[in-house]
Amino acid sequence: MKAVVFYGPGEVAVEERPLPSPGPDEVLVRVQAASVCGTDVRIYRGEIDVSPPVVLGHDFAGVVEKVGEEVEEVTRGMQVVVEPIRSCGACRVCMEGRYNLCPDGGFHGFNLDGGFSEYALVHVTCLHDAQGLPVEEAGAVEPVVVALASLRKANPHLWDYLVVFGQGPIGLTITQVAKLQGLRVIAVDPLPRRLDLAREMGADHVVNPDEVDPVQAVLELTGGNGADVAIEASGTQLAVDWSAEVVRPGGKLVFVGEQSGLHGPPMEEMMNKELETFAVALGAGLYPRAIDLLASGKVQMRPLITHTVTLEELPGVLEQLSDGTLEAVKVLVKP
Ligand SMILES: [Zn+2]
Ligand SMILES: [Zn+2]
Repeated sequence: MKAVVFYGPGEVAVEERPLPSPGPDEVLVRVQAASVCGTDVRIYRGEIDVSPPVVLGHDFAGVVEKVGEEVEEVTRGMQVVVEPIRSCGACRVCMEGRYNLCPDGGFHGFNLDGGFSEYALVHVTCLHDAQGLPVEEAGAVEPVVVALASLRKANPHLWDYLVVFGQGPIGLTITQVAKLQGLRVIAVDPLPRRLDLAREMGADHVVNPDEVDPVQAVLELTGGNGADVAIEASGTQLAVDWSAEVVRPGGKLVFVGEQSGLHGPPMEEMMNKELETFAVALGAGLYPRAIDLLASGKVQMRPLITHTVTLEELPGVLEQLSDGTLEAVKVLVKP
């Protein structure tokens, strides 16, 4: 089978590997679609520690090809989405149901082989039924999970004002889910093409911080009060700082955009306004809901997929995403 293997920063190779055989509680999945996440680009740049050599890709879906002898939950031919976390199930955070934070767990595409491959070996507990979900959507479920996790933390009220910084795949998906929850969404991004997409995804207002002061713009749009919630999904320091400024006193902040070297907003702003802050690292228990939402068509990933590539093309695409020469929203990989 063909697989895209990460050896170190900037070193990614397409390799022919032997087809792995599932252990008793494992399943061999024939990958139909996988998507490139901002995290993959950060791994490629060497900004995140993983365990090379490892097959990248943590957002993927496919068809059950072969099951281990103790597997009863799935059968050959079933369409599945893979949740990339293989938690220990026994530590304190696992016992609390927050298995996404398990310190002893494995993660496909980090320290377990991932989905940028023709086949992937996964534990049966990582699989979710995705019958009937179009392949393109099945291969890009993670942004929906992150959006649901972000809004679950914020726990907003109907008709609240929500500011979403960054309209990449995560921000655009947050915008969609927030509209379903009856929020008024103000989407912020410097790229006009992404603001167009944000409008398409239902944003009530869009703000380009290269053209206007976003803090002033949000104050005006909210009648001088400030927003109830801000979600930072751009991974930029400027937006982290703005997020504390755009919310009203007693408002909430959710941080989901990752980047090396980021620090929190000014403490004075946080304390004077008694801001509640949350951080999101994927979230637990949300894959079935995310799959349902995609299947219903209420949330869509297809409009966000700007490029579809093969495994052979992927190393070049990672390089281009890394050096900024490819302007993509979501890149889908079809092995
Ligand atoms: Zn990701
Ligand atoms: Zn654990």
